[in-house]
Amino acid sequence: MRSVANPVRPAEAGRAVPAPAVGVRAFREAMGEFPTGVTVVTVASGHGTMHGMTVNSFSSVSLDPMLVLVCLNEKSRGLGLIERAGAFVVNVLSAGQQDVSRRFASRNRPAGSAMFDGVPFEPGVTGGPMLADATASFDCRLWQSHRAGDHLIVLGEVVALVHRPQLEPLIFHAGTYKALERGPRPRRAQLRVVR
Ligand SMILES: Cc1cc2nc3c(=O)[nH]c(=O)nc-3n(C[C@H](O)[C@H](O)[C@H](O)COP(=O)(O)OP(=O)(O)OC[C@H]3O[C@@H](n4cnc5c(N)ncnc54)[C@H](O)[C@@H]3O)c2cc1C
Repeated sequence: MRSVANPVRPAEAGRAVPAPAVGVRAFREAMGEFPTGVTVVTVASGHGTMHGMTVNSFSSVSLDPMLVLVCLNEKSRGLGLIERAGAFVVNVLSAGQQDVSRRFASRNRPAGSAMFDGVPFEPGVTGGPMLADATASFDCRLWQSHRAGDHLIVLGEVVALVHRPQLEPLIFHAGTYKALERGPRPRRAQLRVVR
């Protein structure tokens, strides 16, 4: 049994805690239990320059029309550029691209085209960079955006896509990059930490 000086918080004990008492950090840690892929959302930002940012709040929304969404911080530079361009590309990163993820999440990354130095890409239909080593890229026209707290839900209509099923996806779980490890049988994959 734990002493009073080192109590088990209800959230740690698996009991429900009212959200206001939890705090953002505990919320983020609990959300981290939901494994996701990792994407780099790119946009051609006019005057021949471009921008990219790491995003894991990516989901498919509708089949007819084909819609996807990402949730972007209201203060994000990329959000303003997407609204101005009316388009964006979602690039699903492949295993081994954790450095690309880190680069496009860094506040200190170079601005404009220099952000993409050493990251091969081709312009998509909408002009946004489609990364050459992504497992899939979805080229989208901006459909709608909806304010949700301190983020915006940005919906895109898919106008073109690239799919490279031979590549494995990069996984993000509990704040760590992971990869699928193939077991002896193709369908029995295990998670492997790749940091
Ligand atoms: C695995 C992973 C998943 C992620 N998923 C998402 C996601 O789904 N949605 C999302 O919005 N972000 C996500 N991020 C964070 C995002 O990648 C970074 O915040 C990235 O910098 C956003 O790029 P940007 O161009 O949109 O914003 P940036 O312009 O790079 O700014 C990012 C944030 O930093 C602040 N900022 C920038 N420069 C300064 C400065 N000099 N001083 C103080 N503050 C500054 C901005 O106000 C903004 O809040 C994720 C990061 C990782 C690693």
